[in-house]
Amino acid sequence: MSLDAHWFSEADKGLALSLRIRKKLHEEQTPFQKIEIYETDSFGNLMVIDGCVMLTGRDNFIYHEMMSHPVLYAHADPGNVLIIGGGDCGTLREVLRHPEVRQATQVDIDERVTRLSEAYFPELCESNHDPRARLLFDDGIKFVQEAKPGSIDVIIVDSTDPVGPAAGLFSTDFYRDCIKALGAGGLLVQQSESPLLHTESIIRPMHDSLRAAGFHDPVALHFPQCTYPSGWWTATMAGKDGPVTFRREKAAEQKPFETRYYNAAIQRAAGASPEFFRKALLG
Ligand code: SAM
Repeated sequence: MSLDAHWFSEADKGLALSLRIRKKLHEEQTPFQKIEIYETDSFGNLMVIDGCVMLTGRDNFIYHEMMSHPVLYAHADPGNVLIIGGGDCGTLREVLRHPEVRQATQVDIDERVTRLSEAYFPELCESNHDPRARLLFDDGIKFVQEAKPGSIDVIIVDSTDPVGPAAGLFSTDFYRDCIKALGAGGLLVQQSESPLLHTESIIRPMHDSLRAAGFHDPVALHFPQCTYPSGWWTATMAGKDGPVTFRREKAAEQKPFETRYYNAAIQRAAGASPEFFRKALLG
């Protein structure tokens, strides 16, 4: 079937993903990036930043649940959580489902992402007025540099791809600042692209940078994300004081909230590495 003006396409490494669209709902160039919003035929609304799919109404639950619940159940007491990026607020909503979280600060460089999410993805923003939520609009790199040492339990880096304003979020200097900002037993999780397309170009250098900064044994969680390039995505977790373990497995088995993708068995399985991936990360 040939594609025409009724399709949005994102091409990466010789592979294109297309979503059939009904209409363009919004387009703007902010000081940081170009944001587009579409209504699709079968995936709900679609947000695109600089030509890359950020999320669709239909499948974002997988990404947002995997960016939040595994790392929170791996930490002994995730009271203070920092989200870098995440301006659509979907990760924030999932983080605030955990009663142990006493404060969740979201720092996105671009306020327009949040305002457009409020308009076109209101379901993702339903916890923005939770008294534990703090929404700031600033550069996450600067925020972590200036954070009080030892003050944060979990850092979630829910950013765009490592180009433009997000490039520094994949650097050793940034990870060193994260180590400093994290308290004892602190954990970091970061969206880390596709194992099929980006193991050599992004995931392996990211693991090297995490280790160089002092993080222990980075581990990739694998999950399907059919609207991201290749349909297969990862979130990489790493610990400040030792390897990441499933510390609160029992609590995860009895989680006091509904999820659509995440459960304790998914967390156990998601850390298993396919052979090519395991070997590539051995060096
Ligand atoms: N789920 C998405 C994905 O993997 O494609 C990421 C979604 S979220 C919309 C990404 C956010 O990262 C954007 O809103 C962007 O403004 C933000 N961002 C990029 N660089 C940043 C930085 N240096 N500090 C804070 N936020 C940043």
